[in-house]
Amino acid sequence: MSDYRASRTSGRTIRACGDRRAACPTSEPRRAVFLDRDGTLIVDRPYSADPNTIELLPGVAEGLSVLQEAGYLLIVVTNQSGIARGFFDESALGRMHERLDSILADSGVNVAAYYYCPHHVEGTNRALAVPCDCRKPAPGMLFRAASDWAIDLGRSWLIGNTPTDLEAARAAGCRALLVGTSETSSAYPRFDSLLDAARVIIEADGHGRLREAARPRSARQG
Ligand SMILES: [Zn+2]
Repeated sequence: MSDYRASRTSGRTIRACGDRRAACPTSEPRRAVFLDRDGTLIVDRPYSADPNTIELLPGVAEGLSVLQEAGYLLIVVTNQSGIARGFFDESALGRMHERLDSILADSGVNVAAYYYCPHHVEGTNRALAVPCDCRKPAPGMLFRAASDWAIDLGRSWLIGNTPTDLEAARAAGCRALLVGTSETSSAYPRFDSLLDAARVIIEADGHGRLREAARPRSARQG
């Protein structure tokens, strides 16, 4: 993964349904950790696009640092229906992510890219008020990122805070973990912080014995 770290740049904000751009500097399949944004990385302030309100959740910088050091590509996948609803535009979203990049850079953490879904069927922007395949729980953002960055989804993970995140991960063939306290899902383990989740991922991929713990119980029973 040294090639990735050596070529560090600010994470680009990429509309999941937008034009395809070559993003991957290598074709060797890589592992990634997909990260939900609101309520997973930062305090959830619904429809806020003010960079000055960004507040990392406890353990996020440390957890991302651990994952990066282990060689995982860090990719944010975020539903941003506030764009379809007309609350903010895509350039404001980009400024949010530039600010988040700057905060994470203080800990040496580099997010490779931010994929977002701007859609919502109840939006006021007619072009974006449509059903799509990128709004989680659909897996479109994960598939798009996997294509752009040569990610091996079966060796990758998603960390989120809602069952919607988990459904997207399952549909894409990733393993998944929950953090935070917003909603419960008895089928998956939930961790207090992203650092705790990161440690489980490292241990699971390093030793295998916790791998099963990160799968849904229904899958294990089946
Ligand atoms: Zn979408």
